[in-house]
Order: sequence, then C-alpha cells, then structure tokens
Amino acid sequence: MISRFSSLEAALKHFFGYDRFRVGQKQIIQDAIAERDLLIIMPTGGGKSLCFQLPALLKSGLTIVVSPLIALMQDQVDGLQDNGIGATFLNSTLTYEQERSRQQAILEAKIKLLYIAPERLLNSRFAGFLANIVNNVGVSAIAIDEAHCVSEWGHDFRPEYRQLKQLRRQYPQIPILALTATATKRVQEDIIEQLELRQPSIHLASFNRPNLHYEVKTKEKNSYYQLLKEIRQHSGSGIVYCLSRRRVEEVALKLRNDDIYALPYHAGMSDRDRSENQTRFLRDDVRVIVATIAFGMGINKPDVRFVFHYDIPKSLESFYQESGRAGRDGEIAKSILFFNFGDIKKIDYLIEQKPDPKEQRIAHQQLNQVIDYAEGNDCRRTIILRYFGERFNGNCGKCDNCLNPKPVEDWTIEAQKFLSCVARCRERFGMAHIIDVIRGSKKQKIYKYGHHLLSTYSIGKDKSVAEWKMLGRSLLHQGLLGETNDGYRILRLNKRSWEILRKQRSVKIAVSNQHKSRGDTVYNPRQGEAEVLYEKLKVLRKQIADLQSVPPYVIFADSSLKLMAQLQPKNYNEFAKISGVNEYKLQQYGDKFLSVIQDFVRSQELPKPLPSKSQMQTLQLHQQGLTVTEIAQERGFAVSTICTHLSELLEMNQPVAFNKLVAADIQKIILEAINKHGDKSLKTLKEALGESYSYNEIKLVVGWWRSQRKDEG
Ligand code: ADP
Ligand code: ZN
Repeated sequence: MISRFSSLEAALKHFFGYDRFRVGQKQIIQDAIAERDLLIIMPTGGGKSLCFQLPALLKSGLTIVVSPLIALMQDQVDGLQDNGIGATFLNSTLTYEQERSRQQAILEAKIKLLYIAPERLLNSRFAGFLANIVNNVGVSAIAIDEAHCVSEWGHDFRPEYRQLKQLRRQYPQIPILALTATATKRVQEDIIEQLELRQPSIHLASFNRPNLHYEVKTKEKNSYYQLLKEIRQHSGSGIVYCLSRRRVEEVALKLRNDDIYALPYHAGMSDRDRSENQTRFLRDDVRVIVATIAFGMGINKPDVRFVFHYDIPKSLESFYQESGRAGRDGEIAKSILFFNFGDIKKIDYLIEQKPDPKEQRIAHQQLNQVIDYAEGNDCRRTIILRYFGERFNGNCGKCDNCLNPKPVEDWTIEAQKFLSCVARCRERFGMAHIIDVIRGSKKQKIYKYGHHLLSTYSIGKDKSVAEWKMLGRSLLHQGLLGETNDGYRILRLNKRSWEILRKQRSVKIAVSNQHKSRGDTVYNPRQGEAEVLYEKLKVLRKQIADLQSVPPYVIFADSSLKLMAQLQPKNYNEFAKISGVNEYKLQQYGDKFLSVIQDFVRSQELPKPLPSKSQMQTLQLHQQGLTVTEIAQERGFAVSTICTHLSELLEMNQPVAFNKLVAADIQKIILEAINKHGDKSLKTLKEALGESYSYNEIKLVVGWWRSQRKDEG
C-alpha cells in the first residue's frame, strides 16, 4: 500500500506537507500499518492525530475515529479537507439529506476518515450501516480519541465509552488505536482492560513540552494591571484561567475596556453563547478567552500563544493540562502562574466545605503540590515532570528559575539532618512535623510521640522554618525524597535519600533570598522585517479562512507562515519546500501567498520618504491627543493644512490614529468611492460622495489608502 510512496516521509510530505515526523510518530505509524493494537499516550500537542490519519490514508478501507466532542469533529474534518483528504463526520447536527449523502460517499469509498461520537457508533440503527461498510469498503482501524474517557479513574469518565468493547468483540479483526494525553498509570491500565486491547504496542511519550516557557509571578495588590501588562507584552491568542464565573466575567469586561478583545467562557453561560465564543476564539476573531476550567478538553486550537493562570489551579495535573493548551503547534508559548497566599486561603476554605474528609485531604495535597511548584526554586520543568514520575535534570533554560537562577549552595549536611530526622520519625510524618522536630518545637504533638527524645530533636535551630521548607521541597522536586499520595504527604526515604545519608551523594539546592524581589523575565518574540511580513501573511490567511468559514490555522500553521516570512520564497518551487505546504495547498493558496510575499519584498526595496519638520510638529501634537482643530489653532494653520499633513503622514506610514480621525463607517464609504474612481482627484471623489463627506475626511482616507497600496507594493 505504501508502495505508491518511496518512504513514509514522502507520504507525510504529500498528504500533510511536513518534512519530518515528530518523536514517536514514525514507529507508531509503522505499528499501525502492521495492524497492531496501539495505546498512544502523548501530551497535548504531541501530534497524536497524525498517528491514525496517515495510516488511514495508506491503508485501504475506512478508518473510524471515535471522538467525544462534536465541536471538535468539525475542526478536525475541516483541517483534513483543507489538505485535500476525504474526511467527514456523522453526528446529530446534520440534516437527513446531509447524512444520506455522507453515507453514500462512505459506501463509494470516497472517504478515508469518518469521525463519529461513540453513542452513534454503538446505536443499533447504525449497526446495519456499519456492517455494510465492513463488508463492502472495509474498515482499516478504529481510532479511539480521548481514550481516558473509558476510565473512572480519569478526569472525564463517559459511560458510553465503556460500550466500545462491543465493537472489538463483534469485529475482532479490526485493529484498535487508543489515544490519550492523560498521564496516570492507573488510567492507562484501565484503557487496555476496558477496550480489550490485544498486546498493544504502547507508546508513552515524555510529558516534557519543550516549547513552553514557564514563569510564576507574585500576584500584587493591583494584580489586574499585572495581567494586562503581560497580555500586552505577548502577541497572538491566549487563555486566562480564573477560579470563579464572576471573576471571569469581570476580567473579560475589564480587558475589553482596555482594548484587549476578550470574551468569557464558563459553565454558567448558555451552550450557544459558549460555543459562539469558542468559535470566535478559534477563528482569531477574538484574541483572549477568559475562562474557568470549563474551557477544557474540546479546545483544539494549535496556535494559542499564552495561558495565564490568574488564580491558582487546584492541582498540578490541571495546571499541566491547562497550560498545555498553549503551543500545540510546537512554536514558543508562555505559561504564567500568578500566585499569592490570599488565594490559597480562599481555596482552603472551599476545600473545607467538602463533606468527605478523605476528599479534603487529597484536595489539600494537590493544592500543596501547586504551592510547591510556585514557591520552588528548582527548574519549573523539573518540578512538573517529577510530578508525572519523570526525571529531568534541570537547567531547561526556559523557565524563570533557570533564566534567573538563585545561587546554588551545598546543603548536604542539612539534607542529612533532615533525612535522618525523617528516618527517626519512622517515615510516618509530613514535612511540617519533621521541621518542628528539627527546630526543637514544644508543640504537644512532639511530646505525644516522644520526639523530643530523638537525637535529631532541635539540631536545626540555626535555620528558619522557611529555610527547612525550602530544603524539603527541593529534595522532593529533585527526587531525593518521596512522599505518599494519600493526602497525608507522609515523607518516605527512597534509594537516593539513603545514598545521601551514606554520604554517597551530595545535595545542592537553589537558595532564594526571601526578600529579594523576583527578576522580571521578559519574553521576546522574534523581531525585525520578517515580523512585518508575518503580520501581512496572517491578514491574508484570515481573509481566506473567513471566506471558507474555517479557523485560520486550518489554512496554514503559524510555523508555516513564519517560515514564509523568513525564507520569502520567490516561486512555486521554493514555496512547496516550506514545511506545511503540500501539493494541494500549493495549488489552492500558492499564488495568493506568493503575491503578498513578492509585494512585500518589492516594497522593502523602495526608499521610504521621511516627514518634513512641519509635518513632524503636527504629528507630535496629534500624538499628544490634540484634535485637528486644536492643532490648527496651536500652529496657526488652517484645518485643511493640518489634514493635508496628517494625510501625508499616513501615506508615509507614520503613527497617525486614523480610526480616531475618521469614523469606521465613513471610512468604508469613502474607500468604496476611491476603489471606484481612483485616488487621483479629490474633486471627483467629493462630487461622487456628495455633501455629507468633507474634503478633509476624503483626504485622510486617501492618505491611508495609499499607505496600504504601498505596503502591497
Ligand atoms: P494532539 O492531538 O496530540 O494534541 P495534534 O494531533 O492536534 O496534537 O497535533 C498538534 C499540532 O502539531 C497540529 O497542528 C499538527 O498539524 C502538528 N503536527 C503533527 N505532526 C507534525 C509533524 N510531523 N510536523 C509538523 N507538525 C506536526
Ligand atoms: Zn527550567
């Protein structure tokens, strides 16, 4: 079947335009082609979809993709169709006729990938059609997306997923691919069992997200302005997570008042409003979504450039999943957690309202792990990966702790004291108690257990509680000490702890000076000429996307546009080499993108005229916020002269607030006239437009129009 292509790489380029596989993809695809069952665990953005899509295209027959979210199907299918691939979905949103014609296309073998919700796939009315497909077209595989939904241990159990094993029993010859981004071992085992996978080939990718930059910021009193500042410093789309619905509404509104186009998303809104806001976000009509955790699994937007946690998340797992919605396209993206102790008190209070003490305990433990992350001095990536049981050696270079490292000190002696105290307390206590013992506390609990008699009692008075805590945390983060997961966080020694006690291993920790303020790390997007062209290409992409009613990333990923902006291809040949451009896209969009690139290249060659001294003076006053009349008065010129200045300044691409000078609806009408009559004669335009439009307005719009033309070349 693959013989049509010289290699899997060639097939990848042909169908998807990519040059190489991501880590793990190729092996998985080979296994899939060899008809094996597969369990694929990859973090969000790892590129799971390709793992069943490419085999689907290379094998004969139809691949059925089970997906729990109707909203997502549309997206995935749009993306595939835009690569010229036969894909479709069946769900409750279709009319009878649509459904019929899609079923027809499937039976005519025009479709390679069918997306479907589990309840429909299992529906008895669907069974006959399914048998028909199996017998006449063949089913090459069943891919089960979000497979953790079969497990009660997962965060999103869906009973209908449990029924999927019926398919396995009915069609044992069809291989099953189960895909998930959930990391816990228990869920993974459950998936294999529930779906009755047969000796599946298991692919567990690292949970490291190398393109994500992590940062924690102490939340100040005027935290809203901190947030606003960060949003302004970042470009592209972003998500701001808040704890409550009220807060979501409030922040979204404030941002809009500050000219950041933001919309809310939370469970208190109607389905319609939510899905509308989500669509606007996907299509880049709105830049920021302010949301509660309700904005979750269905969000498949690859080009989210930042995720900010304005309030503290409830566990490190949810922090990971939420921040992981940024940068799925592999481009640099940013996570910032805003953190202060006031918030923790609020959550503590909420936790204490839970009726079940065990639930409370686990919730506290999860919260404390987030606090450890926020307060820790170790590489943030190390802390996160540690949580998933992965060891990472620090120095990621892409987190605030690595970029602004605290001085590292040798604390081996202190670590020995601490660990031996854990041992002497028989590994039955949490960190707070161990620190009490070390510092010689006189609390009741100490006497109750006789811990005032231990040799380690009071051996660490020289250090503060905060310092011991810093050490304890770092030992945990570096994997030099363990803790139980039952909500009690009881400290346990591991192999490495014993090595430290036996003096076979030294301990270095990053030491923070509590009073020293955290350095601000500024995130610097790439700049220069390519940025300007990139923005233009984005505008074109948006136009095309809107015409087709699809999200912009369906046309091209950000990374492809960036490459176009950097490499500035001159012809089809060069354009085809850009990653993300396949044969189909070349034909569909090559001309349009090449022409924008060419125009830009040409415009760069033209010398730019500079404003005169007098024009500069006008510009200065304009920038100070004076109206046209005020500027005219101040400078002793006629209003029309000032408008001529501003028009010429606009033409020279100077920072003139055009939208403030001429209202949008007036701009539109004048632009229509210019498009019809040209820009040569103001008089002609004035006559065409009539009394309601002044010469001054026309002049300004002409200036702006010319600047746009120059940009185009
Ligand atoms: P997941 O489902 O694992 O979260 P996706 O399958 O949505 O991730 O892939 C994330 C992004 O990465 C998508 O935009 C996809 O087109 C892109 N992608 C996948 N594989 C490759 C590859 N080999 N080269 C470049 N981009 C890829
Ligand atoms: Zn780091």
